Amino acid sequence: MKTDIPQLLSQMTLEEKASLCSGLDFWNTQPIERLNIPSVMMTDGPHGLRKQGEEADHLGLNDSVPATCFPSAAGMASSWNRDLIRQVGEALGQESQAENVAVLLGPGTNIKRSPLCGRNFEYFSEDPYLSSELAAHHIQGVQSQGVGTSLKHFAANNQEERRMSVDAIVDERTLREIYLASFEGAVKQSQPWSVMCSYNKLNGTYTGENEFLLTKVLREEWGFEGFVVSDWGAVNERVDGLRAGLELEMPANNGIGDAKIVKAVQEGQLDEKIVDRAVTRVLEFIFKAVEQRQQDPSYDADEHHALARKIGQESMVLLKNEDQLLPLAKQGKIAVIGEFAQNPRYQGGGSSHVNPTQLDKAFDEIVKHVGDQGHVSYAAGYDLDSDDIKEELVQEAVQLAAQAEVVVLFTGLPDRYESEGYDRTHLHIPQNHQYLIEELAKVQPNLIVVLSNGSPVVMPWIGHAKAILEGYLGGQAFGGAVADLLFGEVSPSGKLAETFPMQLSDNPSFLNFPGEQDRVEYREGIFVGYRYYDTKQIKPLFPFGYGLSYTSFEYSDLVVDREQYSDQDQVKVSVKITNTGQVAGKEIVQLYVKDNESIVMRPEKELKGFSKVHLQAGESQTVHFTLDKRSFAYYNVELADWHVESGTFEILVGSSSRDIRVQQSINVQSSVELPLTIDRNTTMGDITTHPKTEQLAKELLERSGMGQLFDASDDMMSAMVKGMPLRAMVNFGQGKYTEEMLAQDIEKLNQAFVSTTS
Ligand code: BGC
Repeated sequence: MKTDIPQLLSQMTLEEKASLCSGLDFWNTQPIERLNIPSVMMTDGPHGLRKQGEEADHLGLNDSVPATCFPSAAGMASSWNRDLIRQVGEALGQESQAENVAVLLGPGTNIKRSPLCGRNFEYFSEDPYLSSELAAHHIQGVQSQGVGTSLKHFAANNQEERRMSVDAIVDERTLREIYLASFEGAVKQSQPWSVMCSYNKLNGTYTGENEFLLTKVLREEWGFEGFVVSDWGAVNERVDGLRAGLELEMPANNGIGDAKIVKAVQEGQLDEKIVDRAVTRVLEFIFKAVEQRQQDPSYDADEHHALARKIGQESMVLLKNEDQLLPLAKQGKIAVIGEFAQNPRYQGGGSSHVNPTQLDKAFDEIVKHVGDQGHVSYAAGYDLDSDDIKEELVQEAVQLAAQAEVVVLFTGLPDRYESEGYDRTHLHIPQNHQYLIEELAKVQPNLIVVLSNGSPVVMPWIGHAKAILEGYLGGQAFGGAVADLLFGEVSPSGKLAETFPMQLSDNPSFLNFPGEQDRVEYREGIFVGYRYYDTKQIKPLFPFGYGLSYTSFEYSDLVVDREQYSDQDQVKVSVKITNTGQVAGKEIVQLYVKDNESIVMRPEKELKGFSKVHLQAGESQTVHFTLDKRSFAYYNVELADWHVESGTFEILVGSSSRDIRVQQSINVQSSVELPLTIDRNTTMGDITTHPKTEQLAKELLERSGMGQLFDASDDMMSAMVKGMPLRAMVNFGQGKYTEEMLAQDIEKLNQAFVSTTS
């Protein structure tokens, strides 16, 4: 029987209502026994369950129950595989049910503004479309099991430095097109049970007190139906938060926040209806969780480990493969070097830290693959706990490398290099890792580097490695997954969900990250990630969307159903993909849109569609995309809406952002004409190019004697006149064109808008 929430609410005292606006303890909601309101649990997330026992913390310090550790979001995003991410979500949901957890705190869909952000490993991408699509499928998976998600951290939480006090200054267009868009698609498609506000301020107001964010955008515009929870400890002024739309404060603080709510109501500063609204949403959640609780839930840990291995395979990106060194033959002498092969770095530090059900080691898995067909040896090469070069470890590794036919070196970033709570300061791997690469390359040309890191590194050593496999933080089955790829059981199919820059200073946020004291200005605006590198024509080390395979794909037969569209139409695009190589493989087909001409700044191109296809050698498949208004629009702040400028757009389909294989132009007509209010300082150019005033403008230029100049074959002269304000007709009219005439003409010009729009 469904619980009658209004009825329940009517039985509650003000104190009881306020008590539901914060937790019972670190992870549980407040129960009210008298009214049979139970307590339910929320816990981290996102890529594995971190359910703690008695000793609770939000920093990943104390142990949690064993759970499957899937690759972290940076890796999973490289799979670009919606279905697989949904399956991971389902597995996470099953584990949450089995542990009686009502909400898994994640996914995190903050945009990777800078590669330095310490928490980038927990986020999907620098691109809002990709990020929101993947978050949406993660949410759908978890919630299909009757367990909620908490989409976090809303919003503009793009650095760890001063994360609890920094004020992110972001203009509205940038916010809408980049930072909010990453949440928007996920909320609209998948209705997460909850959204978690972030720690930081946005444009002067803590996000947890930001009515624009929590109510106007999230609820009124996007239709969010769940509850908003604070990030752990993010509450600044409890009553302001409640008013703005922050329903639940976590963790509990022994009723301090609740008492403030009660006092504010009693003193007439807070309408009790606002408390009722929050309590209703919390109750709706609690009873939904209770209704969806399964009887005797359980899960198969081995099956989930196998799933972790499958997504682990797709989370890796083959960055370089000179002389087709990979895949490796099982015969021969293989030297496995690097302590990561025995002691894997497979997840990040902080609140997402999972206690895995089992842990594959790359060395063991390589040995298993090789069996008795070849010979595998091992040397540590570096000390994981320090950056110091240990000559004896290096020499041991070099000797092994010299005797082998190929070296597989496991390197990357040790735990201490990136974590929740602080940002990186540079993009280099430790000096002892880099030195080892250089020394090994002196004795062994066949050097394969496997990286474990949560976000991009620079590679001054790239010339020493024939093959590079970016493994990200590959989860508990990383070792098995990497061996599968190295020996070609599976062809690599991951592609970068973020740009790898040549050097840190190339990054668009470089001059404004992490800001000054408590203020960080997003001055690069919409030019984040490839939007910047492509527009500015800066060559990255590896571009967004890039990744190699053991096979090759051909793109052909791009079909766009028409040439002419209105912004209300759907645009159907199809393209044929053929596996032209010798082995089966998966290709991530990417569709970008470029606005050929615009009065506002637009990036060179933007991702608007992607699809992953599995093809046997020689097989072809047609991939379909549907684009809509949003695919062509920018956010127009004056209209307070998305707007498509009439004109031609390029549909670009390719294998990465820098490898467009087929393209076609189409024309899209806007259904909305931008308003133009004309005054004495409106330019001649503006009125002569606007379709509504074009004719009138010609007449009045003639009358004022400036028409001749405007039409002059002299380009310089006509450009000069275009830029003049209307009052110039008086300034240069030698008294023939008067102020009165100007006033009348301005009125007529403005009438052109009134008469046709009414
Ligand atoms: C993190 C959140 C996490 C919460 C609970 C916070 O420090 O920012 O992502 O869900 O702690 O552990």
